[in-house]
Amino acid sequence: MITGQHLIAGREAAASCSPFQAENPTTSQKLEPHFGDATLAEADEALQAADGAFDALRLAPVETRAQFLEALADEIMALGDSLLERAHAETALPMARLTGERGRAINQCKMFAALIREGSWSALNIDHAQPERAPVPKPDVRKMLLPIGPVVVFGASNFPFAIGVVGTDTVCAMAAGCPVVVKGHPAHPGTCEMLGRAVLAALRKTGLPEASFSLLQGRGNELGRALVTHPLTQAVAFTGSLRGGRALMDAAASRPNPIPVYAEMGSINPVFLLPGALKERAAKIGEAYVGSVTMGVGQFCTNPAVVLGLKSPELGTFVQSAAENAEKIAPQTMLHRGICEAYEAGTAVWSTISGIKLAGQSATEPNSDATQAACRIYTTTLDVLESNEELRHEVFGPCSIVTECSTLEDMLRFARSLDGQLTAAIHGTPEDLREYAPLVRVLERKAGRIIFNGFGTGIEPCASMHHGGPYPAASHSFFTSIGTDSILRFVRPVSYQGFPDDCLPTPLQNANTPGAMRLVDNKLTRDAS
Ligand code: NAP
Repeated sequence: MITGQHLIAGREAAASCSPFQAENPTTSQKLEPHFGDATLAEADEALQAADGAFDALRLAPVETRAQFLEALADEIMALGDSLLERAHAETALPMARLTGERGRAINQCKMFAALIREGSWSALNIDHAQPERAPVPKPDVRKMLLPIGPVVVFGASNFPFAIGVVGTDTVCAMAAGCPVVVKGHPAHPGTCEMLGRAVLAALRKTGLPEASFSLLQGRGNELGRALVTHPLTQAVAFTGSLRGGRALMDAAASRPNPIPVYAEMGSINPVFLLPGALKERAAKIGEAYVGSVTMGVGQFCTNPAVVLGLKSPELGTFVQSAAENAEKIAPQTMLHRGICEAYEAGTAVWSTISGIKLAGQSATEPNSDATQAACRIYTTTLDVLESNEELRHEVFGPCSIVTECSTLEDMLRFARSLDGQLTAAIHGTPEDLREYAPLVRVLERKAGRIIFNGFGTGIEPCASMHHGGPYPAASHSFFTSIGTDSILRFVRPVSYQGFPDDCLPTPLQNANTPGAMRLVDNKLTRDAS
């Protein structure tokens, strides 16, 4: 089932360069088969094919694209346990987690099928002509969102299904009518290939061009850069490190015709503990906090890396609870050796900073042969946090720092100094929230999602979800990479002026056969116009 070949527009291409194998992070065993870096000629072939398939994909009936997405959900399920087992071997993510994530990936396929069938997502606007208007007649103008063309997708290491080859990026781009070229994540190439084959099977089943999808495997930056700078690429979706995302943003900006890179790069996701909440339930919040820090071995971009609370006995109770709960967390295997080494290096730097204390950690030692990481909870004071830049950068893994502040003004000052964040959380009573409203006002300027009495880990893919934030959390703060609005990254508005009705795209024609919600002469309606 896994051959190590690239899947280029329905053609299987044997890997010819720089062979590599996936590695089981738990056992360090190499996994069969060998993969290889796709060549620049293969990158060109995939993008030429994608561009050639663009019209067939975008002009296919919406119902066909919706059926493709549903067929993809079926194909993913049809891979059965072998998909879960391969992903488990390549990522060490537990089978239960992978089963849940597969469910999320499948639901995303169905969610976008429903979205495009309903049709309103494409922002349909109609302004009728007013030929009698004086002094200048008004023309008939209609506008909708249209797909932009070939999209290059870089999947995440930590979500092999839901943000991988068949994740939100691929699924919403293809739902919109954009062909996709995926660069497989080098840490789980076998999983990528299985999922790539599922996409091709769904395309075949629904009669859509196989050239609308390619999967190129590769390790090292050259292939990714070539895909981003290829003249036919119209947009890029990326989830991963700030360094990788920034490199791709710069590569895209240096093109003669720059294109958008929608990069989701993570953040420190600050948590603010307000006095009322600490008085009511400090120990409970401490327990929930450690649960969030260690979920998925801390390998979530929404991991709460910094907590702030006012100096008080209750904050002490919180720290004690967090430390006790950290001890109970057994070290777990991380996604790959590179991430584990970065975690060890990052927490080692923290430990050398004067004014940082290790409050609690997993009671057992991590087994480095099994790529394991221990949970580590640190404490410090705000002046130390403010004067050490390295404490304000994400260390990917199950660690976090609890920071003691003296006053609310301290907390606000820290909040104002934050870089862009994916999430920020506030624990409080409703009265706290009213009293500390200025904190919410500051966080609105910093974060894509603000959570009350919860943590950012666990994202609901729905219409109202925003997963993004100001740079460096994401490259473009307006767009989300999760939820139905993620489709807006791969479309652009086009206005049609003075067109005969039957020459307009179907959703803009007077009859409104899809029955979509449209803004007609500034009034929202599903009626014919
Ligand atoms: P990564 O190193 O950023 O790699 C992600 C993808 O981008 C891979 O396919 C990688 O392939 C490619 N890439 C990276 N740098 C590139 C460059 N300069 N030019 C071209 N392509 C490039 O992320 P990762 O391996 O998933 O994890 C490493 C770190 O990313 C973690 O320690 C964590 O900080 C962060 N991370 C963040 C999230 C998130 O949700 N925001 C998720 C996972 C990881 P090649 O390296 O083969 O080119």
